[in-house]
Amino acid sequence: MPTVKVRFAPSPTGELHIGGARTALFNLLFATGSGGKFLLRIDDTDLERSRADYIEKLLSAMSWLGLTWDEGPVYQSKRLDQYKEVAERLVTEGKAYYCYCSTTVLAEGRSEAKKDSKAYLYPGTCRNLREGQEESYRREGVAPVIRLRTPDEGTTVVKDIIRGEVEFDNTNIDDLIIIKSNGQPTYNFASIVDDLQMGVTHVIRAEEHLSNTPRQQLCAEATGQDLPVFAHVPMILAPDRSKLSKRHGATSVEEFHAEGYLPEALVNYMALLGWSPGAGGEEEIFSLAEMAKRFDLNKVTKTAAVYDVTKLSWMNSHYIRTYDLNKLTDATLPFFEAKGLIELPLQESEYNYLMQVIAVVRERAKTLVELAEISDYFFIDDFDYDEKGVKKHFQKENAGFYIRKAAEQLRTLESYDHNSIENLYQNLCEELEISLGRLIQPTRLAITGRNAGPGLFEIMFLLGQNKTIQRLEHAANIIESDQL
Ligand code: GLU
Repeated sequence: MPTVKVRFAPSPTGELHIGGARTALFNLLFATGSGGKFLLRIDDTDLERSRADYIEKLLSAMSWLGLTWDEGPVYQSKRLDQYKEVAERLVTEGKAYYCYCSTTVLAEGRSEAKKDSKAYLYPGTCRNLREGQEESYRREGVAPVIRLRTPDEGTTVVKDIIRGEVEFDNTNIDDLIIIKSNGQPTYNFASIVDDLQMGVTHVIRAEEHLSNTPRQQLCAEATGQDLPVFAHVPMILAPDRSKLSKRHGATSVEEFHAEGYLPEALVNYMALLGWSPGAGGEEEIFSLAEMAKRFDLNKVTKTAAVYDVTKLSWMNSHYIRTYDLNKLTDATLPFFEAKGLIELPLQESEYNYLMQVIAVVRERAKTLVELAEISDYFFIDDFDYDEKGVKKHFQKENAGFYIRKAAEQLRTLESYDHNSIENLYQNLCEELEISLGRLIQPTRLAITGRNAGPGLFEIMFLLGQNKTIQRLEHAANIIESDQL
């Protein structure tokens, strides 16, 4: 058995979509799990739609996800000579031929077929040109395409690990163009030539390419080389089973990044779109290495996978909770900056403060955007008080008096830490003959503007003695002056 080699071959015509990223991931998992190599190839022969900035974005999206490749990137646009050489060899061997049919003639054929509601199939006009005809076309300056001679009868059977044997009727496959008149190869030809020349053993790609496979297979057979193994992975659909699109929220890796998903969460989630690790289905959290160990193409489903943002968010919150704190802090920096809560670069003390804040709030965030949102009061003083909270906690009898009392006593506290704050609050409530809640609730609202959040004494400790007292006094003033 040759060493396994797989490839991910995106076209740089847009951002990396979750479907593409999942294909890349399956390739990587399979390569890693079988001790093989993962090649990154950029299918950039579509001159009109390929863009250099998409290539850059693609590479950075893959790096961000941690999908590292062993070889490449290889650019198809730099391999035009290779495609031409193979195509010309096929012409010499009589397996392909130059076709001079004009686009007008072809268009006519297509519209005729359309009238009869049939798919257009090239009739093979240039298969056997009369002697001298080719020269005369050339003299006229007609730029030919090269077409592969395909069988008129029989079937082409694609053997696919996920889908089994899929049979295609050769009468539906016409003599496909392999080199266009501008010298560029077509996708079907370039793709298989590369796979063969680069020693790709397994082609793992999106289901939408299954219908291209018999054509690629016929090209491979014409060159006399062995076929790679094919595996077409299922589509990813939206929850309503329609095509996943912008209206369902983020769809590109870049958008998920911007919405505050962690790469490990996205990778973990994507791996389970169409694959399940088998026994013990409740296990869902896996590292890349662990997934690679378990990954099995035979366990990839044929049926479409349904995207579920709730599950992704759940997974993301798991990773936020368990992530290395330093790494998490680093990942959140742009999100805090975007909300105007910090200014980069941070001083060491500011960084440490942010890290402590994150340690306290991370239990409660599903995304990094949310994490920054729920931490605002740690960084700004002019937040609004939650309206319901005002009615419930500030407009209750003596609320202003209680929190002013708390502020007074906090000022005298010598060692300002979690335990001493808690003791102070307990003693004060006993003294005032009120329940702890009567003091805690207006305090929380006064110092955070919110009714819920992490442990109050933790927040008070982090904010520091002065800021806590100021906020309590400020709220007491407002309550007592009836400015609510
Ligand atoms: N360039 C093709 C695409 O982006 C990939 C084709 C393949 O994997 O063979 O859809």
